[in-house]
Amino acid sequence: MSDCIFCKIAEGEIPSNKVYEDERILCFHDLEPQAPVHVLIIPKKHIESMDDVGVEDQDLLGYIMIKVKDIAKELGLENGYRLVNNCGEDGFQTVKHIHFHLLGKRKLTWPPG
Ligand code: 5GP
Ligand code: ZN
Repeated sequence: MSDCIFCKIAEGEIPSNKVYEDERILCFHDLEPQAPVHVLIIPKKHIESMDDVGVEDQDLLGYIMIKVKDIAKELGLENGYRLVNNCGEDGFQTVKHIHFHLLGKRKLTWPPG
């Protein structure tokens, strides 16, 4: 999608502080970190939100899920972490390209905070 920030980051048009990249996914540091470690994991394919995931995306989404632990290990999150997806207006999704926040290196609270 031409006007999508995360597509532009995936294509290298907008710079990002990359943590991991392969042919299908990208992980980079969030611009406004909410924890000492706060990265975003995105598929390079433009999917707007969890509401738009189709059966054709099950391998891609499953691939992201199995990569989380490797990225977490690389970032030193041995003591645990939180994986978050915000969806839609009530979920406070601000970027309309599906992404998973991976947060750690502090005691996260519950309810979310
Ligand atoms: P959402 O609110 O949609 O779940 O999360 C979007 C996240 O993207 C926010 O945490 C925000 O700080 C981050 N973000 C927005 N624009 C950029 C950008 O251009 N670069 C990076 N690295 N992060 C961004
Ligand atoms: Zn996009």
